[in-house]
Amino acid sequence: MAKTINVRCNGLGRHVNEVHLDTLLQPTTVLRGGPRNAEDIPERFDLPCRECADGRVIVTREMIKKALGR
Ligand SMILES: [Zn+2]
Repeated sequence: MAKTINVRCNGLGRHVNEVHLDTLLQPTTVLRGGPRNAEDIPERFDLPCRECADGRVIVTREMIKKALGR
């Protein structure tokens, strides 16, 4: 089951970006039901906003752990 979280960008528009956790974590961990350890999750992702050029979407490990129920 694909888990998504909604994260606002830090630009002026505060756009809500839907972040797919399995897509996000795919490069670093092989996801079959989530990373085995929280330590496998990078501390922080910094993604470009889909709606604007200057906004960044920050996803922290804590947010991911919460979404995964860890
Ligand atoms: Zn934005």
